[in-house]
Amino acid sequence: MEFEKRKLEWLEFDLLEPFPHVIHGVFLRHGGASKAPFETLNLSTEVGDHPDTVKVNREAVRKALGLPKIVFAHQTHGTNVHRVTAKNCEKVPAADALFTSEKDLGLAISHGDCQGAIFYDPVHEAIAVAHCGWKGTAQNIYARVVSAMHQEIGTQAHNLIVCISPSLGPDHAEYKNYKHEIPQDLWSFQTKPNYFDFWAISKKQLNGCGIPEKNIEISDLCTVCNKSDYFSYRVDKKTGRNATVAGLKG
Ligand SMILES: [Zn+2]
Repeated sequence: MEFEKRKLEWLEFDLLEPFPHVIHGVFLRHGGASKAPFETLNLSTEVGDHPDTVKVNREAVRKALGLPKIVFAHQTHGTNVHRVTAKNCEKVPAADALFTSEKDLGLAISHGDCQGAIFYDPVHEAIAVAHCGWKGTAQNIYARVVSAMHQEIGTQAHNLIVCISPSLGPDHAEYKNYKHEIPQDLWSFQTKPNYFDFWAISKKQLNGCGIPEKNIEISDLCTVCNKSDYFSYRVDKKTGRNATVAGLKG
């Protein structure tokens, strides 16, 4: 197969290293089959790339991680959190976060400047992935993930490990309309007028759920500064999306 010759690259998180059965990765934009402006490992079906090409790319990711199946979220910049099972995984409703406690079921969200987060509950053996842009931040989608996992499987926030992908960094997160877009209690996270530190906000929101600082790993790579490795909507507008993927090995 053609894609077997391609070279995929992905990041893994230090905090998940002690848990080798938590298969995961944030995929860089290299090694895929997509042509410009989606070159090359575009993993989103919602940006105008050819669906067959995205399929090839997703299959390459699945093979690289060795997961039997990966379920991609249908993201809307909303706050729905959906529990995925082997039974319901063929039909996933619109949701910006997915979680599961089943093995061999990979979950994925796509992003280009937004944050892709992985949540892992080592006590209940469950994982979640979440997509969080400024709208997700404004609505605190991370808190919704924690509360959905708590309600459905009994997750305790203090046990969760959370890892966040490369995303828009403080030097490039300019929000000229922030007074209309970002809740007032987050305005103090400006590093200079109109520029926000979303990494610090995410950490604060996760701490606010009861997740200890030592359990949080936020990549300090900015997607705009590293646009040769990551897709950036801010830089290119019409472009591909990276993906953050996690699954529990059976
Ligand atoms: Zn930057």
